Amino acid sequence: MYINDNNSLGLLVSENKDLYRAATNANQYVEVLVDFPGNSGLFTYRIPNQLEIKPGDILSVPFGSQQLGAIAIRLSSQPNVDIAPEKIRAVEDVVTSGFFASAYWELLNRVAAYYYTPLIQVIRVALPPGLLGRSQRRVRLIKRQKNQSSVPFLSPPAQQILQLLQDQGAGDYSFAYLQQKVKSTYRGLRELLRHGLVESYLEPPRTTKPKLQKAVILIDTIDRDLTTRQREILDVLRRSGGELWHSELLQICSTSSSTLKAMEQKGYIAIEEREILRKEQAQVLDLDIPKILNLAQSNALATIQKLEGFAEVLLHGVTGSGKTEVYLQAIAPLLAQGKSALVLVPEIGLTPQLTDRFRARFGNNKISVYHSALSDGERYDTWRQMLTGDPQIVIGTRSAVFAPLPNLGLIILDEEHDSSFKQDSPIPTYHARTVAQWRAELENCPLVLGSATPSLDSWVSVNSQQSIVNSQQSTVNSQQSTVHSQQEYLENSPPSPPSPSSPPSPSSPPSPPSPPIPQSPVPSPQSLYSPLPERINSRPLPPVEIVDMRQELQQGNRSIFSRSLQEALQQLQQTGQQGILFIHRRGHSTFVSCRSCGYVMECPHCDVSLAYHQTEEGAPQLLRCHYCNYVAVHPKNCPECSSPYLKFFGSGTQRVAQELSRQFPELKYIRFDSDTTRNKGAHRTLLTRFANGEANLLVGTQMLTKGLDLPQVTLVGVVAADGLLNLSDYRASERAFQTLTQVAGRAGRGDDPGRVIMQTYTPEHPVIEAVRYHDYESFVQAELEQRQVLNYPPYGRLILLRLSSFDPIQVQNTTSAIATVLSDNPGFEILGPAPASVMRVANRYRWQILLKFAPDALPHLPDWEEIRLLCPDGVNLTIDVDPLNIM
Ligand code: ADP
Ligand code: ZN
Ligand code: ZN
Repeated sequence: MYINDNNSLGLLVSENKDLYRAATNANQYVEVLVDFPGNSGLFTYRIPNQLEIKPGDILSVPFGSQQLGAIAIRLSSQPNVDIAPEKIRAVEDVVTSGFFASAYWELLNRVAAYYYTPLIQVIRVALPPGLLGRSQRRVRLIKRQKNQSSVPFLSPPAQQILQLLQDQGAGDYSFAYLQQKVKSTYRGLRELLRHGLVESYLEPPRTTKPKLQKAVILIDTIDRDLTTRQREILDVLRRSGGELWHSELLQICSTSSSTLKAMEQKGYIAIEEREILRKEQAQVLDLDIPKILNLAQSNALATIQKLEGFAEVLLHGVTGSGKTEVYLQAIAPLLAQGKSALVLVPEIGLTPQLTDRFRARFGNNKISVYHSALSDGERYDTWRQMLTGDPQIVIGTRSAVFAPLPNLGLIILDEEHDSSFKQDSPIPTYHARTVAQWRAELENCPLVLGSATPSLDSWVSVNSQQSIVNSQQSTVNSQQSTVHSQQEYLENSPPSPPSPSSPPSPSSPPSPPSPPIPQSPVPSPQSLYSPLPERINSRPLPPVEIVDMRQELQQGNRSIFSRSLQEALQQLQQTGQQGILFIHRRGHSTFVSCRSCGYVMECPHCDVSLAYHQTEEGAPQLLRCHYCNYVAVHPKNCPECSSPYLKFFGSGTQRVAQELSRQFPELKYIRFDSDTTRNKGAHRTLLTRFANGEANLLVGTQMLTKGLDLPQVTLVGVVAADGLLNLSDYRASERAFQTLTQVAGRAGRGDDPGRVIMQTYTPEHPVIEAVRYHDYESFVQAELEQRQVLNYPPYGRLILLRLSSFDPIQVQNTTSAIATVLSDNPGFEILGPAPASVMRVANRYRWQILLKFAPDALPHLPDWEEIRLLCPDGVNLTIDVDPLNIM
């Protein structure tokens, strides 16, 4: 954050303002936000005459015995507190004027209002951690002024400050220090700022000292006395551009420090401490040139590039259709125009691959990565890099939607359907897509939503607009030639295998556009639809084989792998090809199904499966509905077929990995899940090892489904699709369809054709059918009809109240009390109160109430402040707006 407060008219202007203010007695006070551990909130300060303050300025204020960074929120003519005016302390100075551009400030305010969150909490998400609290104001010389010949006339305080800075090597002092040494520091400083001789900045959080780490540098590649192993290590080092972090090299080569030490002694490599550049490390990559787009890609690109200002494009491309290439080419001309782009992705697991592609195209220095797994220092440095205003690309997860890029030209949300864009806790419980829509609107730039399986929200939103576009076709035809109808998407869809008994026949006429369109929480911008219906080079989507696990059991196969999958794994091992094994694993709560007949225990009052509950070892095993709180005891035998194999479902990666080792001892696999990717850089390392052919199989969870482009993968196995199908959530089907389609889409992306083997106990489930035939449209149509009947999003809106407390009785009573108060209100439907599916987390007991209402019912919503008053100390209430997880 380099602040150039060099408005040469500053003093004059503000002096005039003083006169004005004195005359009108306007705005003598400012409420500021202070972020101080245990004491953050709004505080009132007096505005000294010489200062002009606007909301969004960063100020320095006295706080107790300290000086703190603060943000100006509101100006007022009256002090908003019960203190004698003369006791109100004065703002010390403006550190950065207009720090929050007005559009950005507006964005933060909108988020605060829509998600019922105090502004400070929103600001905390937006700013790097600890920026306000820990930062300290500093002053330093501007380097270029050294060669400046004419030094302007300066007042004594200004001269003294300049002298102090010039006498010190680095030319950099804290403001507090200068204050001790020089009288009238403010005046002197302002003068120097005005002449552009110094700049004022906030010091990085204290934890961010330069960080040193051991690096290995290649010195000599001529083999004199290397062992084979050492030779390999040297090759890895050379391929990586001659330099790697010590830890990274150890991990990639599975070698030891002593081996490296030996190589250093022989003079092949050097090991030394280097400062880590606190941007995520990038490997040296061969530069990549733009690919020649196919027709659908060119159309999509043209659609995006034709846009001027705010608009939304849904880029609906099947897996492997080349969406990323469209992003790259849409961004390229923006950089040339001096604009920046923001690319949001669901999870950091996905960033190494994507960032490599961006870096290979645009070069390292144009790309920053911003996500919560960065250290505070990295976040700070990356954030500062954005504020420079240099045209750049920021790739990041959810919170990067707040990246303070000035001059934003485009926002891309890749895999827009992914639920990790939504934050469940802490507040604000924002959805990055919703925030991105506001941001694009406020910055007046296009937003591209990319997915092979668009969320129903985006589908409906574009569908409504599409019918508008269609109805205006006569007038807009000439300009809109690249806007495609969904019908065309269907017609271009790859031919599906012949349809089985009843379900959607691919040759049936395309369904008409969806039913009446709801108002979305975001005012619909111009929404365009751009399909990429085929894979690159017309590669086919992989055939999906469904294996009925009930039959496997009947025929005596008790392994978690069907015979078909076993054969495929065997083959993988023999041919040396590569595959992915997907396991769905989710917390402790899971549904109960019969392994003999596939029967699933469901709630008699709701259309959801019951969740398995066991609070602790020895406690009764209960089945519970998370919507209405119906409870049943876990039956011993299946109510349908009396089989004793009525079990709760769930098999984690670990269990599958054990089973693999037992049945296929020769098969090399890499586990890729949250346990094995916890360390920094582990995602990249594991993927690199896999890409280098060190293993046949990548075994993992959700993380595997998100946009990985591994061309050599021919086999995708889904161990049990059921874990996804029967989650007790109204979105379960949508999510299951998305996840399974995405994971299937990892197969056959390269030259070799792929195949998918999907194991399930309910092969007739509509989601399985839709995944099998890659049939997005029929699935969505059926799903939307159900949503509409029950008023679920995107047709109705939800707000979830989550309550928690260490005291189980207190939280239950509070929840009931709130439900009673709410039930007086006719504006919405109340579901619950019900306990959360995992009722106790970290010793807190959790209950919830779900409010369901029509989008236009907003004025009838309760007064949340009144609701909060019903919560005694110790009961925590979170208001989750548009919740995705109602568990
Ligand atoms: P998606 O993001 O839609 O799943 P990708 O962008 O990962 O698809 O593209 C799939 C593969 O096709 C990538 O390896 C990419 O480099 C390649 N590709 C994309 N567009 C083209 C093109 N126009 N010509 C050749 N190869 C392409
Ligand atoms: Zn049964
Ligand atoms: Zn129920």
